Amino acid sequence: MDLKQYITIVPDWPKPGIKFKDITTLMDNGEAYKYATDQIVEYARERQIDVVVGPEARGFIIGCPVAYAMGVGFAPVRKEGKLPRETIKMQYGLEYGKDVLTIHKDAIKPGQRVLITDDLLATGGTIEATIKLVEELGGVVAGIAFLIELSYLDGRNKLNDYDILTLMTY
Ligand code: IMP
Repeated sequence: MDLKQYITIVPDWPKPGIKFKDITTLMDNGEAYKYATDQIVEYARERQIDVVVGPEARGFIIGCPVAYAMGVGFAPVRKEGKLPRETIKMQYGLEYGKDVLTIHKDAIKPGQRVLITDDLLATGGTIEATIKLVEELGGVVAGIAFLIELSYLDGRNKLNDYDILTLMTY
């Protein structure tokens, strides 16, 4: 299946000059969403993962159905102030300024093989911070899966030590 036909490119959003890749038109097509999820589930099985971790909010959309299909858990990575119990945090750079991601301290057990999911790899900052959180808890990042990679932003360069699956490249 050619998944790109289900992605809508929105010009000049959220800012002039950006060609935003809108995945909602893939998600609301049951066949396309299932096909994409199945590819990631196959990958997760090969990588023998124990738990899925994804940053809010679109990392949940990709990761939760994978966790369900595999019968493993899903641990959310969220912006600061959203998780109710003890967390660890990691600062990461945005285009303008900084933000903080957090994860519950007991979300991952040392040695667990973790699949990280998100919708899109751009500069890689979000995933780099997510990796650091997982590793600080003793998790092994066994794979990272995205629907989309923006290869011109070279986020992959930040992830040289990791195994990556991307279903579409622009
Ligand atoms: P990065 O940290 O620069 O790799 O940015 C990745 C994050 O930005 C992902 O969590 C995406 O949800 C979001 N993002 C950046 N560009 C796009 C886009 O064109 N479509 C959808 N999400 C995007």
